[in-house]
Amino acid sequence: MSGKANPFESLQSQIDSAAVHLDIESDVLDRLKHPERVLETNLSIELDDGRLERFKAFRSQFNGDRGPYKGGIRYHPGVTRDEVKALSGWMVYKCAVVNIPYGGGKGGIVIDPAEYSASELERLTRAFATELRPFIGEDRDIPAPDVNTGQREMNWIKDTYELLENTTEPGVITGKAIESGGSEGRVEATGRSTMIAAREAFNYLDKPIEGARVAVQGYGNAGWIAANLLEEIGATVVAVSDSSGAIYAEDGFDTAAVKSFKNETGTVSDYEDADEEFTNEDLLTLNVDLLVPAALENAIDGDLAEDVDADVIAEAANGPLTPEADEVLTERDVHVIPDILANAGGVTVSYFEWVQNRQRFYWSEERVNEELETIICNAFDDLTSTYEAHDIENFRTAAYVVAIQRVVNAFEEGGTFP
Ligand code: GLU
Repeated sequence: MSGKANPFESLQSQIDSAAVHLDIESDVLDRLKHPERVLETNLSIELDDGRLERFKAFRSQFNGDRGPYKGGIRYHPGVTRDEVKALSGWMVYKCAVVNIPYGGGKGGIVIDPAEYSASELERLTRAFATELRPFIGEDRDIPAPDVNTGQREMNWIKDTYELLENTTEPGVITGKAIESGGSEGRVEATGRSTMIAAREAFNYLDKPIEGARVAVQGYGNAGWIAANLLEEIGATVVAVSDSSGAIYAEDGFDTAAVKSFKNETGTVSDYEDADEEFTNEDLLTLNVDLLVPAALENAIDGDLAEDVDADVIAEAANGPLTPEADEVLTERDVHVIPDILANAGGVTVSYFEWVQNRQRFYWSEERVNEELETIICNAFDDLTSTYEAHDIENFRTAAYVVAIQRVVNAFEEGGTFP
């Protein structure tokens, strides 16, 4: 997590902004602003040199009114309890806005995984899976990948869980490798929904996506796929970055070539076909039609938002804009497609993976992509009709209005116990 804003406070302020447009009692609303429970645990594992090291880990189960808790697990040195709480809340509203039958959860381990060997990471992941075992399950809480985790970690968690439970239950976790019960299209899904949401927004705003100049901050799984698919539909990706810095090409990058370069060298910096190199901050304030923040929270705060020079922002990352940035951008008429819709492809295809796991019947990549397209387009339509009907100030608040209403409807059907 970078910057000063506390992401949990950002989440609560986003809910408050939506509440203005909703007829919801304050006691019901208060429930929607706090996690149901947070597991905090210390994992001690043996390092390769025989020393013991302790790692702090969390799993937040924010709300289960619409279905089992769902959300990723991240490995990052900046993980905090409040960050995990915020990310788990964003999952609730993400699943609600795309209308898939899940609540929200999130986990994290405070670690820089680049500093550890694969076998150390395996022991740590299996230790976390052992801790999580009583709290997860395909009808209870279903983890998935997030920052710095992927198929490898998901396979370890599935294997540990199944061994300890003496069962086969691939739907306990999503984002697995195909051989372990994963779904076609899952790896690309976050970037794909970012592309679909941006394309729909450009269409809605009567702007051509073809030839649109795009800048992408972050060239991990979400950022690079979004860049690649935007290039495929005719946009020009003029700038990309990673934590090492940003590169610029006036006529646009061959996004796949940049990815191969990053795979070889570890960074996008020094890419031979770039016209210029600059900083991440320069990229975020570049004059472009579409800006895609695809890194971490708080990339754009209120001050930086004054200098943003994009017409549309599609949030591939979770929480890249602070509430102050939102305020400034709304004032400046910059349209923001919120994370809970733009990056919802990841959890949507996780849902498809879970459905396939439970049916033991697997879909083609074509079917996955078609169903994803339908879900994201329907969600965008729900967002814009609410935006217009309630005369809402921006897309994010409209998305929260749709999502919160769905969670409250489910809660009211269920009632309270005891
Ligand atoms: N970590 C992803 C997200 O933030 C995916 C979660 C999932 O597939 O459950 O949406």
